[in-house]
Amino acid sequence: MYRIIFVLILLTVLYFLIRSALREFKGRVGDDRVPIDKNQMVQDPVCRVFVPRGAAVTEVIGGQTYCFCGRACADKFQKQMGG
Ligand SMILES: [Zn+2]
Repeated sequence: MYRIIFVLILLTVLYFLIRSALREFKGRVGDDRVPIDKNQMVQDPVCRVFVPRGAAVTEVIGGQTYCFCGRACADKFQKQMGG
């Protein structure tokens, strides 16, 4: 009889351990701890529109990172830079 209670407690502890481990794994995938603030507003150098960092299209041109409102502006900027 006591053995059954012991097994039940063990299973409960195991359940909570797995649950917390899964939560930690999900947290790592969701990368909320990235130093870049996704809500920070950045300006598109082409159309001068402000877009949140998380939604912006980022492009590294000449060692510098630029943020654009979309693919079209990024392409336009690259053409301007590259001639
Ligand atoms: Zn734009």
